[in-house]
Amino acid sequence: MRIAVFSTKSYTRDYFDRANARLGHELAYFEPRLQVETAALAAGFPAVCTFVNDQVDAPVLECLRRGGTRVIALRCAGFNNVDLKAADRLGVVVVRVPAYSPYSVAEHTVALMLALNRRVHRAYNRVREGNFALDGLVGFELRSRTIGVIGTGRIGAALVEIMTGFGSRILAYDVEPSAAVRGSGAEYVPLDDLLAAADIISLHCPLLPPTHHLINSAAVARMKPGVMLINTSRGGLVDTRAVIGGLKTGRIGALGLDVYEEEEALFFDDHSGKVLQDDVFARLLTFPNVIITGHQAFLTEEALTAIAETTLSNITQVERGESCENSVAARKS
Ligand code: NAD
Repeated sequence: MRIAVFSTKSYTRDYFDRANARLGHELAYFEPRLQVETAALAAGFPAVCTFVNDQVDAPVLECLRRGGTRVIALRCAGFNNVDLKAADRLGVVVVRVPAYSPYSVAEHTVALMLALNRRVHRAYNRVREGNFALDGLVGFELRSRTIGVIGTGRIGAALVEIMTGFGSRILAYDVEPSAAVRGSGAEYVPLDDLLAAADIISLHCPLLPPTHHLINSAAVARMKPGVMLINTSRGGLVDTRAVIGGLKTGRIGALGLDVYEEEEALFFDDHSGKVLQDDVFARLLTFPNVIITGHQAFLTEEALTAIAETTLSNITQVERGESCENSVAARKS
């Protein structure tokens, strides 16, 4: 099938070309993000491949449909940026990659935890400047601490498995608790109890209307003083202003983000020569106890290979008229 691949980076092309050697699709790579201004690039392409910050809303879908597109292949798990009802109405099939090495994201989550806890970012800068003082670098042992995992699907479960290895106590919260996660040593508790008891809170639920700003000022107020908060899921789970308030009072002792609610304007591109226009993001960067990575938790060889292979296989299945287990249906409400 002819596939227009939006938001292309060098690593996208490398892994998609490799996976496509076996599947034989015709790939056209476009660097721009998919949005209403760029949707016309896909005219004549029956398949469009998008990433997390492409705008797959109703106007874009209508433009794509007019150009002959009949399948949107998301090369990611989350589909909060897609108007599924509009896709359904227009007869456009949406497929995604529901699982691609959840360990990639879980391990990046642990990287943020360890770096924040042992102040690796500060130590790195000090040593490069010949400053070997240890003041302000005191951490704690994860072994004796309580980790709160919100959302225990694939990634949350992988994190539980890893943190069990550290010897930490694991509290979990999910609207659909998992017997396997419980079996691996986590204790399911109500959300408020988790917020009050955890030394580290890590978010792994999807961004949906009920989870938007799950971490707001009321949630921050319930947290243990000095708590570490990690979000490698979706930016909209966290009310950034509420979290900045928590950092200023010390209620939040450390913050690790791989995602940010206004990341579309920033992430995945080099803005280093420009003046930062996002004052909220700029404030986050001033805290010594905040580490932000630019949505890179998925960026491993294993995940990129799995993403490319699953995305192209999904399109092959749709092309052949087969049912695709990775299709995403609109909710009937
Ligand atoms: P998953 O679907 O396997 O698990 C999500 C879990 O969240 C499920 O167990 C679900 O029951 C639970 N959940 C749903 N609503 C909830 C609520 N209101 N409160 C608590 N739990 C709730 O998804 P996954 O593969 O584990 O991925 C989790 C999220 O990670 C994705 O939605 C995506 O946004 C994000 N993600 C980020 C990256 C990255 O690079 N940073 C990469 C992949 C995925």
